[in-house]
Amino acid sequence: MSKVPKKKTKKTQPARRKGPSPRGTSKVAKRKPKKTGAAVATPPAALRMRPVIGHDNQAWWDRINAGELPIQRCKQCGTLRHPPRPMCWKCQSLDWEHVAASGKGIVYSYVVVHRPEIPGYTYPLVVAVVELAEGTRIVSNLVGIDPKAVKIGMPVKVSIEDVDATLKLPLFRPAR
Ligand code: ZN
Repeated sequence: MSKVPKKKTKKTQPARRKGPSPRGTSKVAKRKPKKTGAAVATPPAALRMRPVIGHDNQAWWDRINAGELPIQRCKQCGTLRHPPRPMCWKCQSLDWEHVAASGKGIVYSYVVVHRPEIPGYTYPLVVAVVELAEGTRIVSNLVGIDPKAVKIGMPVKVSIEDVDATLKLPLFRPAR
């Protein structure tokens, strides 16, 4: 006799939990995903990846933010180099300065990225190695052109643009 009532109570308890909304838990569970889904969709402010700025390239980025494309130059032998780094590859001097690039160059190589689509970027994304008129090369994005129209050797010109509220980048556009 004592075993029968125990079994009944065990069976009825799970049945109540599976019910529509004994505690209102099912309603809460349905609302939560909607809120989080809206939160994910609301900030379209997905930002591009930020450059890693440190002691060796701060000065370079400062000039970009001032609207100039700089190239690092060895103070001892005059060799230009990019990206910025502490030592001259040619004479091992640690003395350097920046010179302003003309901003003119050509597409040395490029790829058109379709996938994966990383938030903050517009696709298809043209990633180009631009050979500057001064001789150094820089990796950047080519904008203002149909990706299918990009050709190796085509002339381009730097365009320092605000890609979002807190980031300026030296992008390149077809030279006219
Ligand atoms: Zn040098």
